[in-house]
Amino acid sequence: MAPVEGNSELLEMSLRQLDRVAELIHLDPRIHPLLRTCKRALEVNAPVKMDDGSVRTFRGYRVHHNLARGPAKGGIRFAPTVTLDDVKALAMLMTWKCAVVDIPFGGAKGGVACDPSRLSEGELERLTRRFTSELIPLIGPEKDIPAPDIGTDERMMAWIMDTYSMNVGYSVQGVVTGKPVNLGGSRGRREAPGRSVVICVEEAARKLGIRLDEARVVIQGFGKVGSVVALLLHAVGCRIVGLSDLKGGIYNPQGLDPIRLTAHKRQDNTVSTYRDGDFVTNEELLELGCDILVPAAVERVITEKNASRVKARLIAEAANGPITPEADAILQDRGTLIVPDILANAGGVVVSYFEWVQDIQQFFWTEQEVNDRLRQVIRRAFGEVWAVAQERGTDMRTAAYILAIGRVAEAIRMRGIYP
Ligand code: GLU
Repeated sequence: MAPVEGNSELLEMSLRQLDRVAELIHLDPRIHPLLRTCKRALEVNAPVKMDDGSVRTFRGYRVHHNLARGPAKGGIRFAPTVTLDDVKALAMLMTWKCAVVDIPFGGAKGGVACDPSRLSEGELERLTRRFTSELIPLIGPEKDIPAPDIGTDERMMAWIMDTYSMNVGYSVQGVVTGKPVNLGGSRGRREAPGRSVVICVEEAARKLGIRLDEARVVIQGFGKVGSVVALLLHAVGCRIVGLSDLKGGIYNPQGLDPIRLTAHKRQDNTVSTYRDGDFVTNEELLELGCDILVPAAVERVITEKNASRVKARLIAEAANGPITPEADAILQDRGTLIVPDILANAGGVVVSYFEWVQDIQQFFWTEQEVNDRLRQVIRRAFGEVWAVAQERGTDMRTAAYILAIGRVAEAIRMRGIYP
């Protein structure tokens, strides 16, 4: 194969993953190079009026990886470290994610290099609106539907919906998902990524014979995903022994109460100062004694440096790309079961799909309906991935990629190469 393009470790990791599985499934050599590249990438430099009267230029991107199975779908990330290569890798991950849970979308991702915690509400709004205007040629309910990701939330999704609507002259709810419920957002969307992680933990624990009411759980990240995982696993009887956020973590072998920690975080802006436990760093947290580990923060936190000290028997990847391929191999050897990101956190994009369907039909579902359908989709996908893993004697990540890449390749084959 051609040498790995780009300089981002995340992109390199995604391409290696693709190449490995392409070989395993004898992927058509006319399709493989197509999947190694992104269909299109837009780079924009957007000027934004700052509160102090100055003007700052922010660089942003929107990338479409592959659209063989449907319109482009994927979040927009606001983070200081955003690069084009990272966005390409994350767009590719979205292609596999949508395919593995079998929803009719292709993969996309967007990002703006900025630190949202240092921008005022007004600056964030002007940045979001200007970036959206720059994206108008790409986005639309039949073409490309953005959503939240790291650093973005319902407020930005509302501004994206409004900016797009103002440009076309009428309200278009289906242009973006993860909106507030009274603007056409779906009930249950906010909790969906965390909820799918928990459904996967339940399924995997059953396979491993781990009783959830006896299980000790460590969660890295107490944001939009990690906090929901903590609350839901606590509710099914797990003992949450470790939790963390950007500022550090907290450990208590007797168990932590995520409801009280949510209140504490609201007050102190971190869980790490909670009194009822010992402070641990984010690195120490990953190595704590536990049965189930949920990395729910950022990519590449479990590497060849710390993988052999990770004690969990089951890891559910709530973040995108938290385990490097080297670490993956070490954990595999140790017999750790890993539920991969493209399956575990796919609840976000699954309920985004439900949101898009509800917006187009203008017919809205109850939270119970959303959660029941999400459970059906994730359970089915988990079962399919598990079956492929058993048949082929592989780990779940490889099995998920085999399924996803196979589905995308089949769609390309059936559509044919135009013209
Ligand atoms: N950003 C989320 C992800 O990585 C959600 C994408 C979406 O809902 O379109 O899966």
